[in-house]
Amino acid sequence: MGKVLVIGAGGVGTVVVHKMAGLPEVFTDIMLASRTKSKCDAIAAKIGGNRIQTAQVDADNVPELVALINSFRPDLVVNVALPYQDLTIMDACLETGVAYLDTANYEPKDEAKFEYKWQWAYADRFKQAGITAILGCGFDPGVTSVYTAYAAKHHFDEIQYLDIVDCNAGDHGKAFATNFNPEINIREVTQRGKYWENGKWIETEPHEIHKPLNYPEIGPKESYLIYHEELESLVKNFPTLKRARFWMTFGQEYLTHLRVIQNIGMAGIDPIIYNGVEIVPIQFLKAVLPNPGDLGENYKGWTSIGCRIKGLKDGKEKSYYVYNNCSHEVAFKETGTQAVSYTTGVPCMIGAMMYLKGIWKNPGVHNVEEFNPDPFMEELNKHGLPWVEQHNVDLEL
Ligand code: NDP
Repeated sequence: MGKVLVIGAGGVGTVVVHKMAGLPEVFTDIMLASRTKSKCDAIAAKIGGNRIQTAQVDADNVPELVALINSFRPDLVVNVALPYQDLTIMDACLETGVAYLDTANYEPKDEAKFEYKWQWAYADRFKQAGITAILGCGFDPGVTSVYTAYAAKHHFDEIQYLDIVDCNAGDHGKAFATNFNPEINIREVTQRGKYWENGKWIETEPHEIHKPLNYPEIGPKESYLIYHEELESLVKNFPTLKRARFWMTFGQEYLTHLRVIQNIGMAGIDPIIYNGVEIVPIQFLKAVLPNPGDLGENYKGWTSIGCRIKGLKDGKEKSYYVYNNCSHEVAFKETGTQAVSYTTGVPCMIGAMMYLKGIWKNPGVHNVEEFNPDPFMEELNKHGLPWVEQHNVDLEL
């Protein structure tokens, strides 16, 4: 059906190509390209069957990307490198006329800001060129955004209160590790909290608001209100929302480490000079922390991510909870990665499938909730991320 170029050979990239390789009728040709080609080769060898071609590319460099795209001629470029590369890859897609999909919004290196403004600014150019860009197609953003669209379409006349709840109840046995790229993860969880209420953003101190929430099959976990990027597009695309918040669970041990890391300056993003060499503290920290891609082997337990929604149906108040629980052990057995990479990589593959099948195709730059959620939801059930619905239950929020 189509050729796909996947950029980024980390934990998420591993899952994406693993899943694509198993669907030759959809993904006829797959190329995995990244900064370090040996990582692509190792992933390709593990999958076997000569399904994955590999290449080296510096995704910060537009001419290099353009040359690679022109030599492979994919129908779609899937960006699972880092958020810093979003704009250069979008530039290369514009120059070559190829569709684009990612899982995380652009971030400038020198400013920890999770905003869509830079990528939304490409909308007219993509539209005029007749190219589709699909933004935020992991789990959160991604599945959580599709869950919201599905709820609005099928279960409510008006959605009013949205709480996205993200629990990782897994244990990887390390004193401290992040579940995806440490630099991006630490930038995300140490920023100020922010949520939407009555038409405006309300800011909080980091981790200021928290409460225990019950997660299915897991039980109560302390959950912290943090800002997460899908809130920005969801309040824009669902203007009936009176309030939209995002909650993530953190263990005490994780928060203590994080506080120390911040207090001693290791989470800093401004370069410093060390022994005459310029280093960025958080990038140095990444080099000494466990590689998230290697956590899978001893990871036990579950993730549970979902949307808790209140609104109106047939003139009555209604509550609705839709979620997925994913086992770290099962994810590892299938793909050799833990559940955080798995829950991001599977929806990314499904988004790519939606594009290649022509179901999610619309020139311009779009967040996933702007497309038809139904076929995507069906595929989640088939590819390892089944979802569960509860109606009119206590949402605790
Ligand atoms: P990793 O750090 O494990 O992998 C990133 C990969 O990108 C590495 O292979 C790295 O190369 C490569 N890369 C980095 N810079 C460049 C560059 N300039 N040119 C080419 N390749 C480059 O990250 P993850 O796999 O954990 O995460 C991937 C993406 O998924 C991130 O953007 C993250 O924010 C996003 N994500 C989204 C989630 C969601 O639910 N929406 C959840 C989790 C992650 P090298 O190996 O040489 O370092």
